[in-house]
Amino acid sequence: MADFGPVVDQVRVTSQRSARTGSIVRFVWHHQASVDDDSTITMMVTGSREVSATYTVSNDNPDGRGWSRITGVVPEQYRAWTSDSQYVDGRALTVECANSSGGPEWGIADESFEACARLAAYAYSAYGVPLRRITSAADGSGHIGHGELIDVFGEGYATFCPGNLDIDRILARAAQLVGVDLSVPAAARSRRGRASFTGSAVTAFDGSFALPSGHFYGAINGPKTSHGGVDDNEQAAILMIQQRLQELGFAPNVPGWADGKFEQPTTDAVAAWQSVNMAGLTRFPGRIFGDDWAKLFGPNNLRARGARVTAQNVPTRGGRRGAAIAKPPWPLPLGTDDHLGDINGSGRSHGGNRGANAAEIIAAIRYVQQRMIQLGFVPGVSDPNNGWADGLFEQPTINAVTAWQHATLRAATTKFGEVWPDDYERL
Ligand SMILES: [Zn+2]
Repeated sequence: MADFGPVVDQVRVTSQRSARTGSIVRFVWHHQASVDDDSTITMMVTGSREVSATYTVSNDNPDGRGWSRITGVVPEQYRAWTSDSQYVDGRALTVECANSSGGPEWGIADESFEACARLAAYAYSAYGVPLRRITSAADGSGHIGHGELIDVFGEGYATFCPGNLDIDRILARAAQLVGVDLSVPAAARSRRGRASFTGSAVTAFDGSFALPSGHFYGAINGPKTSHGGVDDNEQAAILMIQQRLQELGFAPNVPGWADGKFEQPTTDAVAAWQSVNMAGLTRFPGRIFGDDWAKLFGPNNLRARGARVTAQNVPTRGGRRGAAIAKPPWPLPLGTDDHLGDINGSGRSHGGNRGANAAEIIAAIRYVQQRMIQLGFVPGVSDPNNGWADGLFEQPTINAVTAWQHATLRAATTKFGEVWPDDYERL
């Protein structure tokens, strides 16, 4: 597979990318919500934001040729970080198209449409991506706008994107371009872009579960059948697993958490995901066998869906509402930085071992823990009266609270793993 189609004017490769989950079958369209394509590219290449796209399209008209500049950013053999969905982007080419005017109009230049049509025609020729809209997850091949993903695939989030980027117009024009030589003359390509193209080697990992029978992705210090990230292919697979767990809200969305190494936090996150999505189906919590893999990267995973579950805490599928538990009053002074959190944390972090009212604090922490159990965020524990709820805010409690916050609060909190008065209110 070539890194990019012959349609590109320049190449600015980013390392913000992951392994694919399968062959390319679709095209996902985005607008940049910006008129400045160079800034968007710089953001992707420098990593100032954790986003990327296979291609960007500018809003200019170089040499009056009639279509805007096309830049290759994520080589096609990789998944770009564009739509907040491993499931969708894992098999997509993605485009961020610059606007010709700012909001609220967010115009798209005719030349940008022409460049987009060239990309669509190229994808049809190179990968057979059909020139039609995707209207159902069952028929997941074709073209789709960012904002349609939530309805069609149940992935991503509600968004105005791709705004005025009219996909039907792109497809109609692309159909006229099929068969036309779309290559940009090499001499016309940006010297700077060519120079920055590293053409880095492609990992052999193709995104499928490729372990022998009886083998699994699991603890790096586990048995011989446990593949935990000792070679590049294992690490690529584990990175995919970790990023998918982050995407689904079962792991903290912090830089560096996904590192390709299957250690205890990954085991915990896998077990938490299994307790929700593989309840009663898995015999090995914390390990990814072929059936876990298929489910993890398939559609219809129960996942973080912040906007839809903030009003009420919905138990995860593995969790049970159970009997109501009496809620102790918030034990700390309001309007301060005092919160429930890591027992080894700062002086403002109350974990159950200090403070004049330690009994009240321990009772509140125990309540938080019991709610985590009831809501299904404690792997392997379903009884709220289990000794797991011990009133001490240690790492397992931090993990559970973090998972709950990712699943239900998302944008509503920045203090993951800590319980502040507003978090407590929601519990
Ligand atoms: Zn978008």
